[in-house]
This record gives sequence, C-alpha cells and structure tokens, in this order.
Amino acid sequence: MQAETISDTHPIIEIEEMHKWFGDFHVLKNINLTVHRGERIVICGPSGSGKSTLIRCINRLEEHQRGRIVVDGIELTKDLKNIEKVRTEVGMVFQHFNLFPHLTVLENLTLGPIWVRKTPKREAEETARYFLEKVRISEQALKYPGQLSGGQQQRVAIARSLCMKPNVMLFDEPTSALDPEMVKEVLDVMISLAREGMTMIVVSHEMGFAKSVAHRVMFMDDGEIIEENEPEAFFTNPQNDRTKLFLSQIL
Ligand code: ADP
Ligand code: MG
Repeated sequence: MQAETISDTHPIIEIEEMHKWFGDFHVLKNINLTVHRGERIVICGPSGSGKSTLIRCINRLEEHQRGRIVVDGIELTKDLKNIEKVRTEVGMVFQHFNLFPHLTVLENLTLGPIWVRKTPKREAEETARYFLEKVRISEQALKYPGQLSGGQQQRVAIARSLCMKPNVMLFDEPTSALDPEMVKEVLDVMISLAREGMTMIVVSHEMGFAKSVAHRVMFMDDGEIIEENEPEAFFTNPQNDRTKLFLSQIL
C-alpha cells in the first residue's frame, strides 16, 4: 500500500445529481459517483444506456446541464478556463484507438506532451519510449498505426494517454473492436496499470477483467446507474431484474 497523503482524503472525481440531455432526450439521469485515488470502477450495461456519454462528461468531451462534476478539485462548468488542465489530468482510451494515421507511433506519443505540456522534444521522446516499453511495444516506435494490429494500436493509444501523466484513466470499451486473440494483450496492459495503482474507470463487459481488478462494478440502464456492488456479489448475486437479464445475455 502507498503511504496516505492529504490528497487521498479528497475524491479525485465527484459527480453529484448530474443530468444531461441531447436536445429533448434525457440521456443521463441523476448520476451520483465518487471515485477515490487508486480506485478502479467497471461500468457495464446495454448499448445506448449512456455509458460513453457519462465518461465523456468526465473529461468534458460532453457537457452536462444539471448537477456537478468535480475532477481533482476543478469543477467542470460552462466558463471553464482550464479545460486543458482537466484533459491532461484525465486520460482517455477509446474503442477505436483514435491514433493519428499520418504520424509514427513515436510522434503520436510525443504530440500532446510537446504541444500541450510544452515538454522539450528529447524529454518527450524519452517518456514515450518508456511507456512504449511498458505496453510491450517498443520495437514499433517508428511504424505508422496502419502497419500495426488492432491490439498493438490500442496499446499505443494507452501509452499515448500515459505520456500526459494523467491521474485518472478512462477506458471506453477498449477491447470491443479487437479480434478475440488480441483482447488479452490489451487487458494485460490494463491489469499492470491497475497493479501500479492507477485510478481507472473502465466501460467494459470483460467480466474476468472486472473480477480481477475492479473495486466496484456498476450497471447502467436507460441513463441511470441502477445497481452497484463489489464484483463477486455483482456477478453472482445481482439484485435488479434488468441487471439479471443483462448478465444472463452476456455470460
Ligand atoms: P452507450 O455507450 O451505453 O452505448 P451512449 O452514451 O453512446 O451509450 O449513448 C446513449 C444514448 O444517447 C443513445 O441513445 C445514443 O443514441 C444517444 N446519443 C449519444 N450521443 C449522442 C449525440 N451526440 N446526440 C444525440 N444523441 C446521442
Ligand atoms: Mg458506448
């Protein structure tokens, strides 16, 4: 266990009575979620239930209309001046990698640090090589994303986020676009991150992953978090009928 610091007593993410609409469509309804440093949360639920929208609100890729979202002490509001600060604080990995195809792996990793964080190029490259090693892909540094497999591209995307030294990592179905044989290599990288104490919110239906790393699993349906529990109880003894139905379909 890491030594406790003063900041450990403050949650890194606090969401209170948060609502979001797309036009007339009430997509997120009264979301309450507190995440402490080092905590790992898995969110599951049917397609269209609002999982992506919820995590996109946490780094302000989407705006909420009611309630509060506070990330490491910064409240996300309309007149947010330090949006870049929030974005560097919170790393995000998407289902479809979102790498820049015309840049090499190394350039994908150094772009943010050089342009957003104003890190000197040489230092940015050192950091990039360190994280490429961590995701076990250092030999691919000078290739272009199109020359890599899906699993390799997703590991590059994870390394790219880590280069910004985030305090929280959000993953939106990071393995659902991958061929089955590549899922494990990406989950293994995420498991190592978890072991190092990274705070993580992961939208995923990978139950093995949830059982081995999550502190809490949440189930979303129709814009609400309707059930939450520690993984063992969540999977073996779900309470809500909608959770039961969902689990019976995916397990
Ligand atoms: P999930 O990730 O759980 O599949 P999403 O958060 O992507 O769900 O979407 C939740 C609902 O919001 C869906 O009905 C989707 O069609 C709708 N939605 C998502 N993005 C937009 C948008 N930009 N504009 C309007 N509706 C959207
Ligand atoms: Mg989604």
